[in-house]
Amino acid sequence: MRQRTLFTKTRKEAPSDEVAKNAKLLIRAGFVDKLQAGVYSYLPLGLRVLKKIEQIIREEMNAVCGQEILMPSLHPKENWQTTGRWDTMDDLYKVSDTSGRENALGATHEEIVVPLVKQFVSSYRDLPFSVYQFQNKFRMELRAKSGILRGREFIMKDMYSFHKDETDLKNFYDKMKKSYERVFERFGIGEKTYLTFAGGGSFSKYSHEFQTVTPAGEDTIYICDICHIAINKEIIEDQNHTCPLCGNKNLRTETAVEVGNIFELKTKYSAPFDLSYKDEEGKDQPVIMGCYGIGLGRVFGTVVEAYGDDKGLVWPREIAPFAVHLVEILSANIRVREETEKFYNELIGQGIDVLWDDRDLRAGEKFADSDLIGIPFRVVVSEKTLTEGKFEIKARATGEVSMVDRDELIKFIKSVKLKVNTDACPTL
Ligand code: ATP
Ligand code: MG
Repeated sequence: MRQRTLFTKTRKEAPSDEVAKNAKLLIRAGFVDKLQAGVYSYLPLGLRVLKKIEQIIREEMNAVCGQEILMPSLHPKENWQTTGRWDTMDDLYKVSDTSGRENALGATHEEIVVPLVKQFVSSYRDLPFSVYQFQNKFRMELRAKSGILRGREFIMKDMYSFHKDETDLKNFYDKMKKSYERVFERFGIGEKTYLTFAGGGSFSKYSHEFQTVTPAGEDTIYICDICHIAINKEIIEDQNHTCPLCGNKNLRTETAVEVGNIFELKTKYSAPFDLSYKDEEGKDQPVIMGCYGIGLGRVFGTVVEAYGDDKGLVWPREIAPFAVHLVEILSANIRVREETEKFYNELIGQGIDVLWDDRDLRAGEKFADSDLIGIPFRVVVSEKTLTEGKFEIKARATGEVSMVDRDELIKFIKSVKLKVNTDACPTL
């Protein structure tokens, strides 16, 4: 993409009402815009990141045979009354139309997915399966000061699985732990993200959160470095301050952001909607459920909090809006423009995403913007480059600079291999 065509512009200052680092940097760099507290628009650069996050999750959910669907946001009151949450869920947005009919704006989708699948499940032969979606959720969050980490409207990937018994749920649940580990690894936050034991509510001993260590975190976790797992502060007393896996008492305290969670729902939602199936003997049995969430904006903001520095954003290659920022140093020599364009087309032809800074700005301003936007590799083209036949390439994360020729450059950029998952669902 040619940067002069980008309708957004970078800003020197963050809006004074933003306190979170992620919001300040993302607004300055033109990735998002705030409409009101906890409600953000995603602009072209930001949407590219969001879509990459979405695609990584989609590939991993498909690999465990999840079937993608899309459910509505406008929910009939009756569905929420069936589970009792119309009255008990404090952060539920309720809207009514001119005829007085009341609806909820979806804060989560158990109330919709259970009656939906009920129409298709009758026998043990119909189980197991799982469905997932990427959908806007609405929650009346009291503290909406954390930028895109805590939205009042935000996109979640929510998956729901349906099983004939607890053993089958347990098997799938264990598979989801691994699947989530791959997802966070592919986002580039694997090392900082811990499978965390959290309170399970009344239905199981634990649920599991995935917590990414950053100073911006609202949660306190206790890490076992031997097992690379953590315990949420809220259950640490029950655990006697010891690792539930190896008994290690030497736990490290950190603040962290919950980027995802997985939950054994068992019959919590199948019971009120009477979602059941006939077993091998023809007897009615309740369907056993699990649910699995990841907040896309939560992940996006966490990456900014974890890696952003005093100059701006720093993107892991996997979710970067572009792989290369091609910075053209303006010159009276027409050949600089011609050669940059040729090189730009060549990179694109090699399947490399490029943002070409072709704006009429001074080099210093372009470099500052390049650091702010945070694309993994900055490549400078100038009159000097033409004379010497070498390009300057700088890695945003480390600041490392090297001079390479055209072929070396392409080879180097292509050598940074993206993590992929080769698992495939046999039934999709
Ligand atoms: P939290 O404790 O942070 O409020 P939660 O327990 O309410 O999270 P869930 O309802 O289980 O979260 O949602 C699943 C995932 O959705 C969370 O792990 C998180 O990644 C994301 N999420 C939850 N609330 C928000 C929000 N207000 N804005 C952005 N993402 C969110
Ligand atoms: Mg919440």
